[in-house]
Amino acid sequence: MIRRIQRFLSESNKAAKINSRVNAYEWWRQSYRLHSYPSTLRLDPANICNLKCPFCPTGNATSKLRFRGIMQPEVFYKIVSHIPVKYLVDVHLYIWGEPLLNPHIVDYIDYFAEQGKRVFVSTNFSTKEYDNDFLEQLVKSGLFQLILSIDGASQRTYERYRRNGDFERVIKNAQRLSEIVKGSGSNTPRIVYRMLLNRFNEMEVDKAAHIANEIGAYFLADSSFGIPSEHVDEWAPQFGNRAHSEEFLNTGPGICRQLWDTLTVDANGDVFPCCIVCDSSSALGNLTEQHLDEIRNGQKMTTLRRFIAHSGNAQEPDFYNSCTKCMLRHKYRIYFSLKKSKKAIKDVFVEFNVQDKETEQPISESLIIHPQTGFQFKTDSRGKMSFKIFAGQYSMNVYAEGYLPGENKIANITGIEPTQKIFFTLMKSVP
Ligand code: SF4
Ligand code: SF4
Repeated sequence: MIRRIQRFLSESNKAAKINSRVNAYEWWRQSYRLHSYPSTLRLDPANICNLKCPFCPTGNATSKLRFRGIMQPEVFYKIVSHIPVKYLVDVHLYIWGEPLLNPHIVDYIDYFAEQGKRVFVSTNFSTKEYDNDFLEQLVKSGLFQLILSIDGASQRTYERYRRNGDFERVIKNAQRLSEIVKGSGSNTPRIVYRMLLNRFNEMEVDKAAHIANEIGAYFLADSSFGIPSEHVDEWAPQFGNRAHSEEFLNTGPGICRQLWDTLTVDANGDVFPCCIVCDSSSALGNLTEQHLDEIRNGQKMTTLRRFIAHSGNAQEPDFYNSCTKCMLRHKYRIYFSLKKSKKAIKDVFVEFNVQDKETEQPISESLIIHPQTGFQFKTDSRGKMSFKIFAGQYSMNVYAEGYLPGENKIANITGIEPTQKIFFTLMKSVP
């Protein structure tokens, strides 16, 4: 509580608020050179992992990072000395690996939490059975949110993606952590049971929600599973859940914003445009050697901003980078934002027509990708896409424009008015 009050009152957070506004303005203006600083820091305490998730470059050993290991304290303190921490709002201490493999993680969380920053950690929570001492330290560190990657409600479905993971161990760890949080009288860290939906676990959503409830965790059935296109047919959830809860929403106006408001830093200090890239050839500088200003307004970053601001129509950067081929640099407005609603109508089956904006012809059998969440869906042979949604009461905003990767077309979504709000009761269970 005291920490919370300090957080709101602190000068640091006033500075962070003002900086965020300036940053939003500079993004809106699509400025290349920035006066503002990042408001989100993504820092990787460890880019190694104990699991072998098949589509993760760390898990499937396709990572092209030049350094593999944990972030050592001397590297951490060097990096943070080169960043104006007071302007940060959120700190995500995870990117490409398992953060709890780093024995210094509690100190790193504490460093930012002490300065009133909201710290998020995402973990598989399956490396070992954590002792009470460690879990208590985690609670005392001031961690704001601990996201547990639990893609199922049984060992069988969970290990389909979380290979080498131990479902029972994760649940036991989560239960003990939750008890310690309750016993401490604190309401943080918020524990999130995050279930990335796939074809093999979607029938267990109700069961997983029940387990989360028993643990005392928030439940997030998450459709933002980045499935490589060649595996979409095998892995994509059949029922296409979009049920993000309001507080975990991270949507935007449909053009990549990472180079404006986010700073992505690997365990050795290398700075990247975003966390999609897992290849050191795309690094833009290193924060153990350079101050942030040098990198943030350096030639590479400003060139990439210019390129993105023109939605890929500016001259291509003459250095290796990840943005040139990234679909997220395009303007993109298929926008699903599901929020809790007070009204209840009835079960919903949503269907859209997807058309070429120019010719108004249906776009059939095409892959469409959501820019922020990476959610993918395919249109059918009639150019329609449809889905049902899981339990809860939500409203939905739909912005009706999308980008078709590989085809360089803008898709129009019709059958529903842009930004129309629909209220409905979502299905109680997957049929
Ligand atoms: S747990 Fe996370 S970091 Fe580890 S292999 Fe799976 S997706 Fe990658
Ligand atoms: S355009 Fe793509 S690769 Fe470049 S920063 Fe944005 S999300 Fe990352």
